[in-house]
This record gives sequence, structure tokens and C-alpha cells, in this order.
Amino acid sequence: MSGPADLRALPSVDQMLNAPAVSPLVEQHGRALVVDELRRVLGEVRLAVRSGGALPGKDGIVAALLSRLDDRSRSNLRPLFNLTGTVLHTNLGRALLAQEAIDAAVEAMREAAALEFDLDSGGRGERDSHLRELLCELTGAEDATVVNNNAAAVLIALNSVGAGRQAIVSRGELIEIGGAFRMPDIMERAGVDLVEVGTTNRTHAKDYVKAIGPETALILKVHTSNYWIEGFTAEVPGAELSAIAREAGVVLLNDLGSGSLVDLSRYGLGKEPTVREAVAEGADLVTFSGDKLLGGPQAGFIVGRKDLIAEINRNPLKRALRVDKIRIAATAATLKLYRDPDRLALRLPTLFMLSRGEAEVRAQAERLAPQVGALLAPSGYAVEVCNCSSQIGSGALPVDMIPSAGLRIAAASGSALEALAALFRSLSRPILGRLRDGALVLDLRCLSDEAEFLKTLSEVSGDAVA
Ligand SMILES: *Cc1c(COP(=O)(O)O)cnc(C)c1O
Repeated sequence: MSGPADLRALPSVDQMLNAPAVSPLVEQHGRALVVDELRRVLGEVRLAVRSGGALPGKDGIVAALLSRLDDRSRSNLRPLFNLTGTVLHTNLGRALLAQEAIDAAVEAMREAAALEFDLDSGGRGERDSHLRELLCELTGAEDATVVNNNAAAVLIALNSVGAGRQAIVSRGELIEIGGAFRMPDIMERAGVDLVEVGTTNRTHAKDYVKAIGPETALILKVHTSNYWIEGFTAEVPGAELSAIAREAGVVLLNDLGSGSLVDLSRYGLGKEPTVREAVAEGADLVTFSGDKLLGGPQAGFIVGRKDLIAEINRNPLKRALRVDKIRIAATAATLKLYRDPDRLALRLPTLFMLSRGEAEVRAQAERLAPQVGALLAPSGYAVEVCNCSSQIGSGALPVDMIPSAGLRIAAASGSALEALAALFRSLSRPILGRLRDGALVLDLRCLSDEAEFLKTLSEVSGDAVA
């Protein structure tokens, strides 16, 4: 069998395009993409044949084309199973929205809406008006505004209140929140001079008082969302800090981070400071996230004094950081659910998952273990029920663990385990667990659709891993 003879038998792009199996692909993916991928497939075949490979039939070429087209049309943003044990996982998109929020977002996407139009007067309206009343009602604040995320909220609040002047922050609160959010850097970008006071573990009222001078614009209090200092520690409570700020005529800005709207202990979770408490303590401005414990879409809220919120709204940065109608609609629908805290844990998926009892998750693990075991045993993997510790994630109650349960998948070797984790990530709906103590652990706290999970797992055929 000679190479050149084989290559002459290879169909051309045009011939392939006319093949009955290919025309539906043109319908589905568009001609340009199919031609592009056909060229690549035929190019690869030519290379393979030149180095001694066999010439594939038309069916083989179509199969290769199909798999390339599937790859290109498949989105990395496709839904996945978050079985990592971290409920609010920043890298996995944080909160899952309530059905009410999804419906509101879909409607806002589909139709025109009075986003900045006053239906009563027929004149221009305000984008924030859709959320202001709700936020004030739920937090007890005088006024409220909304921007892209909490990082933006902190940036614009600092810039509006303190540009060219000083902000006092405790050394125990100079946080870094994953990625590029480091408080000293944000302050620099906001044009505010950072004045550090106290020490890493202890900061006292007198430290703040001593640092206040003619250049001081504000005191910034930051919730240490992702770490916890234990031992010989001291911080100044919000109410005392507010008295100090008021006395000196400077602003107290409290960055709550996750900032819950309700006391989470009623759902069996630890206590995070609520926004209402921070407002009642006398903070002039409070900032918090929309997609952390609050359970809505990405957004950053600033609530507080009317004159300061007006100043923030006049800042040209506001236009750069504003949110669109889809998120405003979803946020308003999410906030409305808070009017009925008794049913909140049933309606907000994030809270539902966080408050699931350990026994319930364990029962699910017991139910699934034999079926998952049967699917994976042919490939040499052993499955058993195990204890897990879920985390809230996204900077809320960083040291609190929620007892949970899951599946522990053990393999004969480390490489077999890595291979399984990689295979799970490549499924039509990827399954993400955590590699722990020589096993792949799937924490089932966030698993709601068991049938879909088993169906997805059945894509793992025995020979796929072995
Ligand atoms: C999470 C967090 C931020 C950033 O909020 P995003 O909504 O992620 O932009 C800022 N400050 C604190 C204290 C946080 O916990």
C-alpha cells in the first residue's frame, strides 16, 4: 500500500460537504464552521496517511468532524454538579438564583421595561428606584444604591467620600479577598490615603482617635470574611467606632462583604453580622455583595446616609459600574423573598442547600452509593459513603464547617484517581468533587437532581477509564 495512491482517494472538502451525513451539520452549525473543521480533519488525515496511517472511510471522516463540531459548540459555561463541598464557590459562579429571580430576569431580557422611565409622570426615571425601597425596607437604611459588585461598591464609596484625603483602617482588617481585591490596592485606586492603625491582632478605640486629623475623611471597617484571628485579640465594635466617627465629624464606612439580610442562626448556621445591625450601630455607609449569602445575582449594594448616597450617585464612576436591567430585575425578585423569612430556606436555593440537615444528605449518599458503585466498579473504582464538612464559601463564616455526607471514590493508584477526576470534568455535565486523602470525594450537600446525576455518570463506560 503506497501513501500517494491513498491520498488521491481522499475526498475533497466539496465532496464531503455534499455527503448526506454532512448537510444536516451545515444546517446546524453554519457552512463556514463546517468547512473550517472539515479542512482541519482532512489535513490531519493527510498527515496521518503520509506517516503510514490507513486512509479512513467517509464515515470515519464524518465521525471526526462531528466530534470537533461538538467540541466547538460545547460551552465551558455549561451547568455542572458542584460537589466540592463549598456551597458559594466563587470560581463556580456563587449563588444559584431562586425561580422568582430567574423568571424576572427572563422577562426583563425579553421585553422592554421602564428601567429609567417614570410611568407616573411620563418623564425620566431612575435605575436605582427599582431596588432602593426594598433595600431600605430590609436594612433600615435611609437610602441605597447598587453597582456591579461589592468590590465596585467599596471602590466608589471610598472614592466619593475620601478622594484626596485619608481613610483609617485597622491593621487587623487589611484583607485580601481572592484574585486582585486587596484593600490597600483598592484604596490607592480610589485615590484615598491609607492610614493604618493598631496591630494585626489588637486595635483599640484610642488608636483610631489618635489617628484622626484634619485630613481624615473616613474610618473604614472591614469584615474579615475569609479568616479568623483567634487568641489575644481586640477590635473596636461598630457602635463604638460610630461614636468616634461622629464625634470627629468623619464618615464610618463598614464593608460587610457577604452581609446577610437575616440572622442565619434561625437556619441552623453561624451568626454573620446583618446589614440591619451594621446600619443600626450607626455606620454611615454599609457595603455588601448580592451573590454571596444574599443568594442573588452578582451586585454590590451601598446603603446608608442620604447625602452620602447622593454623592456616590453623582460620581462619574457610577455610570461605569452600574448594573443592567436583567440583574436589577433578578435582584428585586430576590430581595422580595426576604419579606417572608419563614419560607426563605425553601425558595432561595443557596439557603436551602446550606440548611440541609446532615441526616438528609447522608440518606441521599446511602441511596446513591450502590448505583454509583455499580457504574464505576467495572473500571476498578470502589465507592463508599463518607463524612464530609461543607463550607459556606465566598468569605462567610470562614472557619465554620457544616457536617455533611458524600461518596468516597477510591482507586488503585493516584494516576487512576486523577484520570477519573479528569473524566468527570469532561462529562456533558461535569462533576466536580475534591481530591482528599487519596480519594475523590463528592460532597452531596449541593446535589438536587439525583436522576440527572446518575444519567450523567452513565456516560462513564467501563472502557473509558480502564
Ligand atoms: C467578598 C468581599 C468583597 C468583594 O465582593 P465581590 O462581591 O466579590 O466584589 C469585598 N469585601 C469583603 C469584606 C468581602 O468579603
